[in-house]
Order: sequence, then structure tokens, then C-alpha cells
Amino acid sequence: MFKLPVCPHCGTIYRYKDTKEAIKKKNNICYHCNKKFRAGIFPGMIVGAILPLIACVAINIFLLTRMKEFQILPLIAVTLIFVLIIYLIIPFFTKFRKTDDIKENKDSSKKRRNKLG
Ligand SMILES: [Zn+2]
Repeated sequence: MFKLPVCPHCGTIYRYKDTKEAIKKKNNICYHCNKKFRAGIFPGMIVGAILPLIACVAINIFLLTRMKEFQILPLIAVTLIFVLIIYLIIPFFTKFRKTDDIKENKDSSKKRRNKLG
């Protein structure tokens, strides 16, 4: 199912247009709760992009075998349609993550060993 991303802090559902804007920016601030979040493409998008690409190549090969004379325009048209489809569905494969989650400093205090004997 296609799902638009939500704010990781308050759960506000982002609209298609807002999601695209959020992808462009790296650091976003929620318009609802004013907290920071980061937009990232969902790992599933890789599969979502590969399948149309395979279909695109397959259609191009099919067109080539049907052609009596080589024509580049139908191939470009098919490729462009698929690129457009992938581009349009990207916001549905986007996930927002909290930027506060990134913790760089981890202080682990190690106990000194006492030598015995
Ligand atoms: Zn929010």
C-alpha cells in the first residue's frame, strides 16, 4: 500500500507536495510540532525502483524486436514514462526520522582491574 510519511514526533501526515519538499531539504522542521526530522527514502524503494526498470528494459527490447527500422523516440518515450512513474512514487516510499535519535557520544566507564597477589 502506498503511504505518505508522518512526523516521527507528533504523527502529522505529510501531504504529497510537502513530502517532496522535505526530501529536497536535509533537515526539516515539522510545521505542527516544530521538532526536527530528517527525510530518507525507505529501503523498499530500491525494490520499487528496480521492478519498473526491469519492465522498462523489457518493453524497450520488445519494441526493438518489433521495429523494422531503428527508431529511438519510442524507446526514449517508454524510458521517460517509467522514470516519471518512479519519480512520482518516491514520496510514498519516504520515511521521516527523528534527528534527535543520532547520538554520537557514548561514554562507557570502564572499571580498572585490580591486580591481585
Ligand atoms: Zn510533528
